[in-house]
Amino acid sequence: MAGGFAKDGAVQDQIDATVEDAVNRARDRLPRGTSLRHCEECAETIPPARRKSVPGVRLCLACQAEHDKCAKAVSGYNRRGSKDSQLR
Ligand SMILES: [Zn+2]
Repeated sequence: MAGGFAKDGAVQDQIDATVEDAVNRARDRLPRGTSLRHCEECAETIPPARRKSVPGVRLCLACQAEHDKCAKAVSGYNRRGSKDSQLR
């Protein structure tokens, strides 16, 4: 019982660290403070909340997810289900 709880926590820590790392890397790539209103790739409207939370955002969620997938593939890291969670 306790072992199961500890394992769940460890997995969550790992996911949090991965998301944080991805966000930090994405921010490194992007100029800060100039969020676009429309996605650079597909011209989809980027929600104001996303523009606020990601300074200098240039892609909508779907396109960003595609980019993240490519970055992960290059680094040899592939996690199933991440696309689904990012689209929500
Ligand atoms: Zn897009």
